[in-house]
Amino acid sequence: MSTHISNAGSGGTLFIVAAPSGAGKSTLVNALLERESSISLSISHTTRPPRPGEQYGRHYYFVERTEFQREVAEGIFLEHAEVHGNFYGTSRNTVQELLQQGRDVLLEIDWQGAAQVRKAKPDCVSVFILPPSRAELERRLRGRGSDSEEVIERRLRNSRGEIAHAHEFDYIIVNDRFEDALDTLQAIVRAVRQRTALQCQRHESLIRELLADR
Ligand code: 5GP
Repeated sequence: MSTHISNAGSGGTLFIVAAPSGAGKSTLVNALLERESSISLSISHTTRPPRPGEQYGRHYYFVERTEFQREVAEGIFLEHAEVHGNFYGTSRNTVQELLQQGRDVLLEIDWQGAAQVRKAKPDCVSVFILPPSRAELERRLRGRGSDSEEVIERRLRNSRGEIAHAHEFDYIIVNDRFEDALDTLQAIVRAVRQRTALQCQRHESLIRELLADR
């Protein structure tokens, strides 16, 4: 089955944001989405049970393992991976439709998913968020208050495996001061939108007019 995904004829860009658990990725992404209303967040499917307050279809599509496995077999995922003992996946159709409408789409996924998406869509833009220190990462993980000690320990152990892949990403942001990290993330999104290939598509008639003989 082809994993290729195209956004031919549209200005939509596929952004990936990854980070070790506790780096503040979701808070950054949510704040970015408030500032940049033209970005759509892709809602993933997961076999992880919902945390208190999480809603089906808003935070994730929570599914049973058997259903997830069936969806994998049907090829509905652009990428999927096992993270911290649970399965997560991104629906190919949803992403494709949004890109074709010209929307920018943001995937909040792990490094394994990011590697799969890069293969399927080499023009995607990927950003990795680092915490400012190990101690701060642990403090943020504990501060969440919704995970068990066992889950926290596992996420801390797994953070090394995630961070070891930071160099594969197009950009790295250290989330020390939240506002600075948010400004930087927004600056990346805005810079990407000015790329020549996209601008030539968008402003074809302007460029033609500016070049025309009087
Ligand atoms: P959490 O359970 O804390 O919401 O997410 C755990 C990890 O799974 C995070 O690193 C998150 O980015 C990643 N994740 C969430 N959705 C997806 C997805 O659709 N695909 C992949 N590969 N990872 C995901």
